[in-house]
Amino acid sequence: MESMSKRHLEMVQELEENFQMTMQENQDCTVQKIRSHYQNKLNTLRKILDIYQEKVEKKKANWEAKVETLKAQNELLLKEQRAERKRSMEEALQWHREKSKMLELFSNRLDALHSQQASTLQELQMARQEIGKVQEMLVVSTQEQQETTGEGENLEIEGLSAQQQTRDCSDSDKPLEGAKARLEELKESLYQREREITELLEAERSPIPPVPQPPCGVLLSLVIHKAHEICSAVPETRALLDQMIEDNRVALASARNKLDRLKNVQEESNDREDATDKEGSEKYNSNLSLLQETVKEIEVCQIALGCIKNGESPVMNDCAVSELEDILGQEASQTTGGVKSAGQQLLLLQDQLKQEKEEKKKIIENYTSERTLRKKYYNMVEDMKGKIRVFCRIRPASRAEAAQGGAIVVEKIDEYSVTVETPRGPREFQFDKVFSAEASQEDLFHDTSRLIQLAIDGYNVCVFAYGQTGSGKTFTMVGDKEQKNPGIIPRAFNAMFDIMRENSSKFSFKVSAYMLELYNDRLQDLFASQAGEAHVHTQSHGQARRVEIKRNRKGVVFAQGAETKEASSAQELYALFQQACANRHIS
Ligand code: ADP
Ligand code: MG
Repeated sequence: MESMSKRHLEMVQELEENFQMTMQENQDCTVQKIRSHYQNKLNTLRKILDIYQEKVEKKKANWEAKVETLKAQNELLLKEQRAERKRSMEEALQWHREKSKMLELFSNRLDALHSQQASTLQELQMARQEIGKVQEMLVVSTQEQQETTGEGENLEIEGLSAQQQTRDCSDSDKPLEGAKARLEELKESLYQREREITELLEAERSPIPPVPQPPCGVLLSLVIHKAHEICSAVPETRALLDQMIEDNRVALASARNKLDRLKNVQEESNDREDATDKEGSEKYNSNLSLLQETVKEIEVCQIALGCIKNGESPVMNDCAVSELEDILGQEASQTTGGVKSAGQQLLLLQDQLKQEKEEKKKIIENYTSERTLRKKYYNMVEDMKGKIRVFCRIRPASRAEAAQGGAIVVEKIDEYSVTVETPRGPREFQFDKVFSAEASQEDLFHDTSRLIQLAIDGYNVCVFAYGQTGSGKTFTMVGDKEQKNPGIIPRAFNAMFDIMRENSSKFSFKVSAYMLELYNDRLQDLFASQAGEAHVHTQSHGQARRVEIKRNRKGVVFAQGAETKEASSAQELYALFQQACANRHIS
């Protein structure tokens, strides 16, 4: 019986051992299978992620290159514009110089005309006085002659020879003849003067033809403008101008009359079909063209004088330009053409600039939409990485640990796994990322910083550290005391405010914070319990205000009753954080 029960027991033990072994094997097998399954999945996901990231990088590079070329184009265009502006300024300067020259010429000519006119008038006056004197002399000599004739009759009666009488008579005629000759002479000089005056007046009637034509049609308006200024400043000139306009009007009317008459004559002769006189028709044609030219010239004078009087500038639209071209002839047309082409070039460049600007705007729009898309993909990638990511950081052994002869039992195998030595042998653990003891604070932050952009884009982001006391949570999150190696929190504050600064032209940001501590299963408001402020946050019955975690209608989790503080810079926010840290329960 005893041996049987012993055998039974042995059998049961054997069975149990067998069962244990099989179970262990099965478990190991299943674990292995699950692990490899997830590993495969993870690998595929990583590959997809890599592809996406590559694509995003490529697109980014593409757009950046486009923006660069656009910038270069813009630069080039700006350079061209500057050169064009410089050129037009130089041209304007040249025109100004020529205008001054023209004005000087004009005023010199006017001065010369005035002085000539004045001297001629003086001479005329003198001539008139002389004529008066000569006439007086003439009257006196006629009287003398009459007296002498009377005396001769008496002498004849007294018996003097007829011959003597005649001689005496001819002697007394001598001064009369001299006076007559003098009169003729004076008359001749008077006529001469009158002719000169008429010529001068003729010259004044058409003051522009004697002045050399401006090399540039545009100058006309400047000259007119200046002339108007002179006319309005000097009253004599105004009177002269009025006279000139009147004379010009008369001259224009007579020239037009002549032209009409000439045309009528030609028509009549055509009616009579008297085409045999070839020479006559040629003469007529040259006369006609001469007359037409004169009419044109006088018309220009009329327009210019009108403009000078009213102080207007001739309008240089296309129609007016063509009119002026007609009137002024080819020279003016060439110069106005030059001006037109320069203006057209400027307009063309402006058009080009406008087009380029529009294109740039379009590209920027494209770039923005592409960026939005990139962000969307990025978020997708982030989602694929998993909403909860667990990182593992191995801290180096402290001096005390090394002094005690402690061994390192954790080892990083690859980017994603670590092994830990246990009493039952090494155990492997998988993470989303593993940081070795050599990893710096920057390395840690590198993978966290992207989450800050996400937070600014409107996602809820939570970063937290867990581990036993002394494992390095505070070092990782805050950094060392002297902040020689700042941790995730101060770095995140800086990154956050950097992003906000970059986008300050597009959005307005407000940063507010609250800070809580979970202590003895109750939430403590670390801002509220700050020195000297505690009484504000206590309710009437003496109890501290309760802070409760709630969810609002939009599903956003918030701490009801917690005090919120605003910060306008990373430094301000970090100061708030430090103040709150000082209120934590420590022992
Ligand atoms: P916990 O906050 O988890 O209790 P601590 O952050 O205070 O741990 O770290 C304990 C000690 O180890 C501190 O003296 C800290 O400076 C040091 N320490 C932690 N992590 C590191 C690291 N990665 N490199 C150097 N020293 C570290
Ligand atoms: Mg700590």
